[in-house]
Amino acid sequence: MTAAHTQNQTKVRLATVWLDGCSGCHMSLLDTDERLIALAQHVTVVWGPLVDAKEFPENVDVTLVEGAVSSEEDLHRIRLVRSRTKILVTLGDCAITGNVSAMRNNFGANAVLKRAYLENATLDAQIPRQVIPPLLAIARPVHEFVPVDVFVPGCPPPADLIFSVLGDLLAGKMPNPAAKFG
Ligand code: SF4
Repeated sequence: MTAAHTQNQTKVRLATVWLDGCSGCHMSLLDTDERLIALAQHVTVVWGPLVDAKEFPENVDVTLVEGAVSSEEDLHRIRLVRSRTKILVTLGDCAITGNVSAMRNNFGANAVLKRAYLENATLDAQIPRQVIPPLLAIARPVHEFVPVDVFVPGCPPPADLIFSVLGDLLAGKMPNPAAKFG
């Protein structure tokens, strides 16, 4: 075993998951700016929008989840993620309450698809059936499907709050974001 390998084994295996969200929560994570360099000394990012991996890995220490559960694909993914993650963190109000993603809930999935792909289309209007995953009837928060360990509120959560939560987790402490918020 090499020294580098030994070092990797001691790093926290971190994943970030993007369900039905706008990517703003991921942008806020990146807004931790130069602190990401310090973070990189303690974590290995094993999954996320910028990681070229085909399957969510086993034995993930911490996963940050952005977005609500809105489609059958989201549901399949979050169950898999939960089964392979020690500490699951919902990042932002869409993951925690539904928030913006749940604004469609009063209208129904078919009405939303019709509005987007038929009424607003100027060319080749048709509802795609094969390219997009089937929508659930309503968008719902992550904790309604799988147990969540930490809730980090905000739309998006402030970068300082995200960094603080990650700092607690890296120190082996269970964070309490509500106590830090505001
Ligand atoms: Fe975007 Fe706000 Fe939802 Fe995050 S909580 S995905 S920033 S709408």
